[in-house]
Amino acid sequence: MTKTPYKIYLNEDEMPKTWHNIKAVMKELPSPFIHPATLKPCSADELNQVFCSELVEQELNTTDEYIEIPEGIREFYKMYRPSPLVRAYCLERLLDTPAEIYYKFEGTNTSGSHKLNSAAAQVYYAQKQGLTSLTTETGAGQWGTALAMACAYYNIDLSVYMVKVSAEQKPYRKAVIETYGGKVIPSPSNTTAAGKKILAENPDTGGSLGCAISEAMEVAMQTDNCRYVLGSVLDHVLLHQSVIGEETKTACDKYDIQPDIIIGCAGGGSNYGGLIAPFIGDKINGTSNIEFIAVEPVSCPSLTRGKYAFDFGDTGQTTPLMKMYTLGSGFMPSPNHAGGLRYHGMSPIISKLYDDGYLSARAVEQTKVFDAATMFARCEGTLPAPESAHALQVAIEEALKCKETGEKKTILFGLTGTGYFDLSAYMSYNEGSMTDYVPTDEDLEKGFASLPKVEL
Ligand SMILES: *Cc1c(COP(=O)(O)O)cnc(C)c1O
Repeated sequence: MTKTPYKIYLNEDEMPKTWHNIKAVMKELPSPFIHPATLKPCSADELNQVFCSELVEQELNTTDEYIEIPEGIREFYKMYRPSPLVRAYCLERLLDTPAEIYYKFEGTNTSGSHKLNSAAAQVYYAQKQGLTSLTTETGAGQWGTALAMACAYYNIDLSVYMVKVSAEQKPYRKAVIETYGGKVIPSPSNTTAAGKKILAENPDTGGSLGCAISEAMEVAMQTDNCRYVLGSVLDHVLLHQSVIGEETKTACDKYDIQPDIIIGCAGGGSNYGGLIAPFIGDKINGTSNIEFIAVEPVSCPSLTRGKYAFDFGDTGQTTPLMKMYTLGSGFMPSPNHAGGLRYHGMSPIISKLYDDGYLSARAVEQTKVFDAATMFARCEGTLPAPESAHALQVAIEEALKCKETGEKKTILFGLTGTGYFDLSAYMSYNEGSMTDYVPTDEDLEKGFASLPKVEL
């Protein structure tokens, strides 16, 4: 048998021409968005006031399994895709495991993560609709950077509300966003009513994604020809990220790789939803037995310790209600180095798949994640983003189990980004000052207390 190559790159003509809509293969669908005032499902008209209309259509599409990727987006994808599927030979050797380990690496573009896949699509549709500006939030900065790149390409103005601690921890992110022409506002700010309210209650807050979302949405609603765009959680974002899974599936088929376990980190759930999109259908209809594992930090454990409930997407409690695994929109996560995994909720699609038992979840500690990241950097050469290293840590755990049992499983995980912009986290780990924060049940109760009291 021929050895699989270290790196599998597809040819340009093998790149996907369609995205894969998970909802079309689900037996039961996630609940629709609920309007907090009427407690009725949100209409397309209501959603169109906040989001681009084509994205609303995608958000509400539950029937088309494949949705065409427009030529104008495929052109953009070609600048940085296909991304490699890598066989982690060196890690396998180091762990002395009989398992085969593969990772799909999304960190090869300048923004450094998978977020560019959805940014390109969202800005393309905004331009097509004749919009002139967009607002968004960013946590760790990857989304803001990706969006700035896409806005520069499609010629749209951009304001980025960046979680204040991240803006302070990652000044280079801000520099990249500004280089691409985006405007950065640390959040909470006094440029919006939502920001002012949060600052009045909690002047020293380092901010949160939920709070930045409130600010960005407020500005989008009050500005002509402007819409708000979101980099995770929503169904259309998972749809765009399915380009990751589609490429992975093509590469696997080409080299006869059959994954037994597919692992991904889950912040809002978009990269993981995208990675599993072409694989989960067979699990749902009973023709495959792949084990799916979503990984989150112990400090922000929405799947493993959260409640499956209707909740707001933002701290300001202005968004529609979504049924999801959540810690409550009032949950303030501790400063954690995996900024992309600090969101209080989880994609309604991932939440539903988890609740129905098609995937499992694991929470891991930050110092263990950095042990894994450092081991990986030294043996595989690639410096992972802290978020991605959550998936890596569980991939290592599974490979070590194989070593004990002698099973020769095929393990696939998503390496969502590079760690170049997270060097302050690596510094803290290297000097031994990194700590693990595990919220107590009491801490979590405070977040749950913010859940809206609705009976639906
Ligand atoms: C944003 C981000 C994540 C988490 O977001 P998901 O929507 O769960 O994919 C993971 N890794 C990286 C590198 C990120 O930037």
